[in-house]
Amino acid sequence: MSEVIDYNAMLAVAIDEAKTGLAEGGIPIGAAIFRHDGTLVGRGHNRRVQHGDPSVHGETDAFRNAGRQKSYRDLIMVTTLAPCFYCSGLVRQFGFRTVVVGESETFQGGIDELRALGIEVIDLKSRECIELLNGFITEHPEIWNEDIGVD
Ligand SMILES: [Zn+2]
Repeated sequence: MSEVIDYNAMLAVAIDEAKTGLAEGGIPIGAAIFRHDGTLVGRGHNRRVQHGDPSVHGETDAFRNAGRQKSYRDLIMVTTLAPCFYCSGLVRQFGFRTVVVGESETFQGGIDELRALGIEVIDLKSRECIELLNGFITEHPEIWNEDIGVD
């Protein structure tokens, strides 16, 4: 049995969320959770600036918007940027087995640790994701440092 999963189409939804965040004046990082058949379960974006809430990362926002799920084993976490340790913890805790990242060049987060746990991490090395986030970082380095917990 082979199953063709269109990870780029999934990433496009996360990028759309990142752009929504940017338009709101926030950090352009988006995420979405899908089933393997491409069904969207939840989507979201970083809302640190918009809500004054440092706990709302793209992944946690998508996770909350997905509502209660019986199991995460067959869901795919898709995010424009490699998940930070906080969000990698979420992935680990709830048993996701696949994470798709738009890029890990700007920030590596916990992807080595996730891989070491046997979780599949697919890096799409998206120029669009790199440029979207780096444009923001250039303009607002202090907000970015705040987001990743760097003094
Ligand atoms: Zn995070």
